[in-house]
Amino acid sequence: MIHFSNLQKANAQYADELKRTAAEVIDSGRFLQGERVVAFERQLAKYLGVRHAVACASGLDALRLILRAYIVTGAMAEGDEVIVPANTFIASILAITDNRLKPALAEPDIHTCNLSIPDLETHITPRTKAIMAVHLYGRACWSDALQTTAATHHLKIIEDNAQAMGACCLHNGMIRHTGGLGDAAGNSFYPAKNLGALGDAGAVTTNDDALAETVRALGNYGSRRKYVFEYAGLNSRMDEMQAAFLSVKLKYLDTENEIRRRIARYYTENIRNEKICLPLPPEHKDAHAYHLFVIRTENRDDLHAYLRRRGVEVLIHYPIPPHRQKAYQDADWNTRDFPVTETIHRQVLSLPLSPVMTEEEVKKTVDLLNRY
Ligand SMILES: *Cc1c(COP(=O)(O)O)cnc(C)c1O
Repeated sequence: MIHFSNLQKANAQYADELKRTAAEVIDSGRFLQGERVVAFERQLAKYLGVRHAVACASGLDALRLILRAYIVTGAMAEGDEVIVPANTFIASILAITDNRLKPALAEPDIHTCNLSIPDLETHITPRTKAIMAVHLYGRACWSDALQTTAATHHLKIIEDNAQAMGACCLHNGMIRHTGGLGDAAGNSFYPAKNLGALGDAGAVTTNDDALAETVRALGNYGSRRKYVFEYAGLNSRMDEMQAAFLSVKLKYLDTENEIRRRIARYYTENIRNEKICLPLPPEHKDAHAYHLFVIRTENRDDLHAYLRRRGVEVLIHYPIPPHRQKAYQDADWNTRDFPVTETIHRQVLSLPLSPVMTEEEVKKTVDLLNRY
């Protein structure tokens, strides 16, 4: 069996260090709001090249907290619109609707599966306040055109960096990490993400001092000072155990991402089958964190069954687009069709990809695809 990704094996690489770390946290008696969270926040901010990292409970919460902070500070109000790709994971959209903002779904570019600037521009209205740039599958969704469009219309750019930890791109003439490019970014450390905790965890990253302060207060019941509550906040904190694990794993992130890129390169250079459309390679070598390697094919369900029968675990990211989900079936903003998005959902298949995948497993997967 070739696993899609094997979290047990992935974390076993660091088992001694993780277990020692867990023992230290247990012995410390401090489980929340301690020095380990502070240390991880510093390490993450330094890694991403950003002024602030505010740890929270999940990637969804990171995005919710950013939008909530814009609301409580008056930058956004109920009913304002946030442009978001229609083919994203539903969490990007949940963060918007949870804050009573309106998602303006935009079609992605079929080749990158990321926001298409020309389509995005057709969704800008007087109520548009932000663009959520989702770095889907680990590919940076960033360009001068995106920045220019946002600047022209005074829109914030909120990055959904959940799938792209470690991806880079050209930003104002320099190579920078995603997660530090826009006004704020939501990061996820869900166990299967490129930088995965051993449970749920997330972080907001931003260069905006005031926003960081507000997000921190909102995640702590809306309080900056003990027993004084400025906002109707929520409880969304990263615990000391997850922070300690993440500090261990952050040290290995670049090495793991290099392995992901090597596997992706091998797939790109060796899969030769006219029935299969490979993902577009990034413009430069580290512009893709390859959280997922997503191919497209006309008879996706057939290829899916073919690989499964031969012991290759493949997944679909995602089978049903958010606008077709029951959760949003009656939403007043959900009135349009999204042909590109629906094509993507009908055709995509994610190949096995993880830092613990062996060369033999990669070769076998390619071999099966070429014989399909
Ligand atoms: C995983 C993910 C999230 C949510 O992160 P959680 O930590 O699982 O809450 C948000 N957006 C995208 C694109 C994701 O893949």
